[in-house]
Amino acid sequence: YAKEGGRGTHLFYAPYMLGQPAEALQQEHLLRAAVPQDALRLHYQPQIEVSTGRLTGFEALVRWQHPERGLLGPDEFIPLAESRGLVTPIGRWVLREACRQIKAWQDEGLARVPVAVNVSAMEFRQRDLVGEIKQVLADTGLDAQYLEIEITETTLMQQPEQARTTLDELRALGVGVTVDDFGTGYSSLAYLKRYPLDKIKVDRSFVIDTPSDGEDVAIVTAIVQLARSLQLQSVAEGVETPEQLGLLQRLGCELAQGFGIAAPMDAGSAHAWLQMQPPAQTMTEA
Ligand code: C2E
Ligand code: MG
Ligand code: MG
Ligand code: MG
Repeated sequence: YAKEGGRGTHLFYAPYMLGQPAEALQQEHLLRAAVPQDALRLHYQPQIEVSTGRLTGFEALVRWQHPERGLLGPDEFIPLAESRGLVTPIGRWVLREACRQIKAWQDEGLARVPVAVNVSAMEFRQRDLVGEIKQVLADTGLDAQYLEIEITETTLMQQPEQARTTLDELRALGVGVTVDDFGTGYSSLAYLKRYPLDKIKVDRSFVIDTPSDGEDVAIVTAIVQLARSLQLQSVAEGVETPEQLGLLQRLGCELAQGFGIAAPMDAGSAHAWLQMQPPAQTMTEA
């Protein structure tokens, strides 16, 4: 076992990263093998239209089937991946697998909905996102309108020039861009008008105590109004209760995600969700 980290430090590093160097090195080796050994998984969380409950898309969330520790969430290995230069192969796998899966469901004749893929600030810096996306769309045959990229405010602030170029190119391709965890980063509102964005995702920390916490209601209200004024769609994340969903509906927040709607699920369960949706319509059908 890794030694218990000191107070404060273990908030930022998983215990295994603090313990003996040998332990950290072993985890690094295991993670390095995860892509070639097919140990990564994607879970999919439905995003719905608040007013109708209709499925509007999935967010792809990566997991690692660890040989000893079971299925790990991204917070348990993305930091290690970033510190060991493994984030690029993982991110590439996620992008390709998400596109492959959503296209396979489309080819079955199921409802056509986009998939959203998360890209961290470091990945945004290190990866040739546009080049990779073009290649993956070409290889999988997925239409660009069914792919969305989620980045945080911090990414936009840290890489203003690269963000401008990359987001312009994504817009030209037809790939959607969402600002994730909105309101929690160190940021300026100016970028909301400077960059070609499609959606703003209200961070779940603002949603969790609504509707009872008046200050949080005020913040969510302001973000939804800001989004509307800028002609961006608003998405609330972390929606857990019917009361929260009711508030969002009254506020005119278009889209929502959260355990109260559906938790992230494996591909089999996401497939079942898709089967409950009305099937894809071709352009010629009314
Ligand atoms: P995120 O993009 O903000 O994703 C939403 C996270 O909130 C997910 O955690 C999801 O399981 C969780 N969540 C969803 N609904 C609820 C709810 O109602 N209540 C609560 N308390 N939580 C909810 P997860 O899957 O552990 O992912 C954590 C973060 O890891 C994600 O936050 C995202 O930033 C990052 N991540 C996920 N997949 C990837 C990936 O493929 N690449 C990169 N770079 N980061 C990823
Ligand atoms: Mg996200
Ligand atoms: Mg988020
Ligand atoms: Mg979040």
